[in-house]
Amino acid sequence: MADPISTPLKDARARLKEATELLGCDPGMYAVLSNAARELTVSIPLRRDDDSVEVLTGYRVQHSVARGPAKGGLRYSPHVNLDEVRALAMWMTWKCALLDVPYGGAKGGVTIDPRAHSERELERVTRRYTSAIMPIIGPETDIPAPDVGTNEQTMAWMMDTYSMNKGYSIPAVVTGKPISIGGSLGRATSTSEGVVHVALAALRDNGLDPAKSTAAVQGFGKVGRGAAQFAFEAGLKVVGISDEFGGLFNPNGIDIAKLGEHVDKTGSVVGFKGAEPIDGHDLLEMDVDLLIPAAVEGVIHEQNAPRIKAKLIVEGANGPTTPAADKILEARGCVIVPDILANAGGVIVSYFEWVQGNQAYWWGKDEVESKLEERMLGAWAKVHDFAKSKKLSLRGAATVLAVQRVVEAHEIRGLYP
Ligand code: GLU
Repeated sequence: MADPISTPLKDARARLKEATELLGCDPGMYAVLSNAARELTVSIPLRRDDDSVEVLTGYRVQHSVARGPAKGGLRYSPHVNLDEVRALAMWMTWKCALLDVPYGGAKGGVTIDPRAHSERELERVTRRYTSAIMPIIGPETDIPAPDVGTNEQTMAWMMDTYSMNKGYSIPAVVTGKPISIGGSLGRATSTSEGVVHVALAALRDNGLDPAKSTAAVQGFGKVGRGAAQFAFEAGLKVVGISDEFGGLFNPNGIDIAKLGEHVDKTGSVVGFKGAEPIDGHDLLEMDVDLLIPAAVEGVIHEQNAPRIKAKLIVEGANGPTTPAADKILEARGCVIVPDILANAGGVIVSYFEWVQGNQAYWWGKDEVESKLEERMLGAWAKVHDFAKSKKLSLRGAATVLAVQRVVEAHEIRGLYP
């Protein structure tokens, strides 16, 4: 049960309010930043494989374009709704500002269960959605990328639909594409790599030796799987993993590569022989040094926060911790590395992909990975030092630094007309 009064949008606005108050902004600036710059809701009629017609709803929300084109993922989930997309778009604005990539924030979503649809149906949905939002996307206006429930193939269909309608190939309209059509080396693993760069720095700066630390990872998808793998490779003992179907525990550490093979075969972590089965909810409450929630928002809330024992939480997902849970965890000294910092590796390499696409000049994997690490560790140091000097939580510090950059852009550009 999540906090009854908590929704991602309310949480995002509450955190923005605190930041604008700390920065001494006038209420007008809060009003501007708490609302999206542009929102589009579209109907997506889908002809199913059995020839029946179903109508889905899609959204694209551009929260801010003050620092550059809007940027953010596209989510396919039965839980997608306009308020959730608004919150996710706002978080993208802060993420891009904090990491100093020259974008505003956006998010898209379609209310659909991708698992209940065939590949051909997903292609038709993606193409119809893309053509419906075409008037507001483009390499200079708004650049989608994968998020929960979408992947490289989704981006390939989007890029193709956009390009076919324009009459020539425009790779930079989306990021997170397959390499063969202008994707960047290192993009697929970038979010997970960034999570682990920051997690290792945060462990060390909090006096914990990664080689002697334990970790639990919630989620074994695009972010969780790579995070578990990189944490394992960095010497951490990954003792717990879960996905939406169940969890696993092994006090001696789970072999992530073997688990990956099991998941590729069965579609879930459940039934893996190298660990004991546990309830997925219990994973969050395991006694570990590092907890990485890498699934969806609102999973750490007022009810389970008092039982969470991790010393450090590094947010691979967007918005996994509610403000009420933040307070409970902070009071007992748990350090939380916020989403807008921890999972920014994805949008950093999206930025690299867009730059490469615009220039038609491709970088090597080492170049991408070293630039990613440099940006993640630079941002970690900046947020960590700022939090210390201003006696703020890491989330408070990251939000203030990000909001400050966006406010500065708004003020220097001025209000039109
Ligand atoms: N969906 C990812 C995120 O939430 C990536 C966004 C992007 O690369 O534009 O950060």
